[in-house]
Amino acid sequence: MAYSYDDQNIFAKILRGEIPNDTVLETAHCLAFRDIAPQAPVHVLVIPKGAYVSYDHFAAEASDAEIADFTRAIGEVCRLCDLHGGGGEGGFRVISNAGPHASQEVPHLHVHVLGGRPLGGLLA
Ligand code: IMP
Repeated sequence: MAYSYDDQNIFAKILRGEIPNDTVLETAHCLAFRDIAPQAPVHVLVIPKGAYVSYDHFAAEASDAEIADFTRAIGEVCRLCDLHGGGGEGGFRVISNAGPHASQEVPHLHVHVLGGRPLGGLLA
């Protein structure tokens, strides 16, 4: 399967500094910023800096360093936003939409980190 990446997508423009964003975290391989239309008190998008359209693309072609950095960045965003999944109160949800069946709007890999309120069942 060949993956095609559209470098005119809005997250590519954010990465190039062509449009502004509300940055939460920047690492060697990732950027995390607040969603422009938040669905919860905390709604942060974490994206790799590399040109990957979806998680399967990323897992197939990214380096181990990129994959490790992305995984750690997601956890660091949770920590910075005071979201805790280790028992007790609170919690969060991490979602990545890919392709038309998942209604992916922006064709650059991103995970949504949602929290700060009860989120209901997975498909609620
Ligand atoms: P998707 O449906 O998983 O592709 O979600 C794309 C997300 O990107 C949506 O939640 C949008 O609100 C968000 N979004 C679109 N443009 C921007 C932007 O310029 N800054 C921050 N978030 C954006």
